[in-house]
Amino acid sequence: MKYSKVIEEIIQKLIEIVGEENVKTEKDYLEKYSKDETSEVKPHLPEVVVFATKTEQVAKIIKLANEKLIPVTPRGAGTGLSGGAVPVYGGIVLSLEKMNQILEFNPEDLAVVVQPGVITGEIQKLAEEHGLYYAGDPASSESSSIGGNIAENAGGTRVIKYGPTSFHVLALEVVTPTGEIVRYGGKMLKNVMGYDMVRLMVGSEGTLGIVTKITLRLVPKPKYLSTLLVPFDSLENSINSVPKVLSTLGFLPSSIEFMDKESVKMASKFLNEEIPNMESPAHLIVEIEAQDKDSLAKSYMKLGDEMMKNGAVEVYIADNRHHREKIWKFRKAIAEGIIAFRPTHCMEDVSVPISKMPQIVLEAEKIARNNGIEVLSFGHVGDGNMHVTFLKPPEMSSDSWKERLENSLVELYKLTAKLGGSITGEHGVGVKRRRFLKIFMTEEEIEFMRKIKKALDPNMILNPGKIF
Ligand SMILES: Cc1cc2nc3c(=O)[nH]c(=O)nc-3n(C[C@H](O)[C@H](O)[C@H](O)COP(=O)(O)OP(=O)(O)OC[C@H]3O[C@@H](n4cnc5c(N)ncnc54)[C@H](O)[C@@H]3O)c2cc1C
Repeated sequence: MKYSKVIEEIIQKLIEIVGEENVKTEKDYLEKYSKDETSEVKPHLPEVVVFATKTEQVAKIIKLANEKLIPVTPRGAGTGLSGGAVPVYGGIVLSLEKMNQILEFNPEDLAVVVQPGVITGEIQKLAEEHGLYYAGDPASSESSSIGGNIAENAGGTRVIKYGPTSFHVLALEVVTPTGEIVRYGGKMLKNVMGYDMVRLMVGSEGTLGIVTKITLRLVPKPKYLSTLLVPFDSLENSINSVPKVLSTLGFLPSSIEFMDKESVKMASKFLNEEIPNMESPAHLIVEIEAQDKDSLAKSYMKLGDEMMKNGAVEVYIADNRHHREKIWKFRKAIAEGIIAFRPTHCMEDVSVPISKMPQIVLEAEKIARNNGIEVLSFGHVGDGNMHVTFLKPPEMSSDSWKERLENSLVELYKLTAKLGGSITGEHGVGVKRRRFLKIFMTEEEIEFMRKIKKALDPNMILNPGKIF
């Protein structure tokens, strides 16, 4: 695709649309908006960064981009892990950060209406202050935007019980790739009026439209929560226990997270804190919810017993807020530790049926060993999504790392495909994984998706270079 350059005339038109203070061409802006948090995707400088404050501005910018053939990359908070917000063809980065208002809070409809730039944690906080719950909970909830969560169909720690972001979206206002403003869905749970356009938009990685207003579903806040920290005698036993426990428990925990020994060490180094049984080969974190104290106690006793039968060496129960938050802070520090201490890494996001989880973690270790690189694994074991993370050994040359990483990825992906899984459970394809899509999908399946993209974005101006 041949795109035009952002010449002075276009900068002036952008200024007319959003005002001078919202059009940035200074080097430090271009550099900041050339990347997200994906370590293996090269930064690309945009030609201009534009901050929209109104839906109508977004529509005008997109119309201008179509007229002049300028690529536009939508951007939320830039915490993405697949290079989705990287402007690979230059052009305009369109930031939604300033559209950050909570527009309506409707507890009687169990709904909240927000702009895309609102940080997800703010929505969680507001709901909880009113005895409600926004159940979406990516580990980046304090830094990622709800618009980015929608575009990536973010997952996180509560998917096992509440589902990924798509389960919480009731309605969307979207600026289409040709600049029209459309609205789909409403504050109702049932709606079969034509195609499910909300579901099509969620997870479309900013390639099918720019989300400018979102109606989210809230649920009652669980009254009591317990978080169990469970060290195991072996890695196999920890993961094998999950499908066994899930099929016999009689209720669904809201989270079951896995941390191998290296992940635990990484979080410990980042926070300068320790958890019990640091030397155990693996830990699980399990969260359960109840509406009264008795059933909470019954649930965690039952869960603890089942875990002990399956190789747990101890079950630590945190049922006050302070201890629970400490455990979750530890879990959420793993990714931050990797980014801080091992910048040359590749964090994967494979997703498989829950019963196949043990194979993924055990084989990933073999794959890394055979290729002479390091690996650690952590993730959402309760929903089948594991962040196998390959790490460059410090002494290894960059060329050798690239070759060994490529081999390791292909082996991991082939195994995942054989187990009936997906290349990405929550981080998206973006730039990072597009060349591997063929391992998982037939040419016809990819072409069918491409046809949707071409039909909606005939000039291919919206977030080009992603997914396909
Ligand atoms: C420490 C850490 C922990 C993380 N943990 C998790 C986790 O547990 N679960 C998880 O799913 N992810 C996780 N992530 C990844 C990331 O936070 C999510 O993908 C998040 O949804 C990205 O949101 P963002 O606002 O930062 O989006 P960005 O990175 O800015 O953009 C992501 C994609 O969304 C598009 N986009 C952004 N806003 C819009 C919009 N309004 N309309 C259309 N397209 C848009 C962009 O074009 C891009 O393709 C983590 C990241 C980090 C750094």
